[in-house]
Amino acid sequence: MQLVPALLPRLIQAIDNAIETNAEAVTALDQAIGDGDHVTNLQRGIKALTAQSDELAQLDWAAAWQKIGMTMMTAVGGASGSLYGTLFVAMSKAARERPLDLQTFAEIFSAGVDAVKQRGKADAGEKTMLDVLIPVAASLRQAAANSVALPEVLENVAQTAIAGMESTRDMLATKGRASFLEERSRGHIDAGAKTSQLMICALVEVLTEQLTAPA
Ligand code: ADP
Ligand code: MG
Repeated sequence: MQLVPALLPRLIQAIDNAIETNAEAVTALDQAIGDGDHVTNLQRGIKALTAQSDELAQLDWAAAWQKIGMTMMTAVGGASGSLYGTLFVAMSKAARERPLDLQTFAEIFSAGVDAVKQRGKADAGEKTMLDVLIPVAASLRQAAANSVALPEVLENVAQTAIAGMESTRDMLATKGRASFLEERSRGHIDAGAKTSQLMICALVEVLTEQLTAPA
């Protein structure tokens, strides 16, 4: 499979559909322990990316991730805008001109997730998007180290993202708005963890189709 930026319009479209389909459910999650704006914040960013998608398709990965990061930072707003923006800008910095194989992608994605941890001063177990992003990065690194075949890597990534999202339900929020609720934050899935999982699963679906499509 050629993992090229020409796939970006399809990837962005898939993310758009996944967030649209789950918009009400995720808004309900954010209303329970946040301020309810997470989906509309994210949809503003996705709309901006859709408008840029033909342009993004012409770039190399480093330039595309940089542009995606800047767009997320300016268009999304809220805590999640700067965090998702940081993820992609840091991925761009780590990408340089290296060819994109599983090993390099695992390193690049991990560098992005480390930057999110620093930016949000947060780590795993705090009931945020990091409870999806950190295990997914680990799953990619482990797959690269063990030369796991791509279809299996994608399947593992999707399962890991779902497990990470589910794990936030019983956590105590210690970062972001949900932390203001203290013990009352327990019992609700974190909205940012849910949208991270939905976006990752949407990407996995397109890439899996791509992998099995006749050349
Ligand atoms: P805001 O909280 O500013 O209204 P959003 O509603 O767009 O922003 O995003 C909220 C999501 O951002 C949370 O559900 C959580 O996943 C994530 N988040 C908030 N603070 C942090 C942090 N410090 N580190 C990592 N993720 C965070
Ligand atoms: Mg919010």
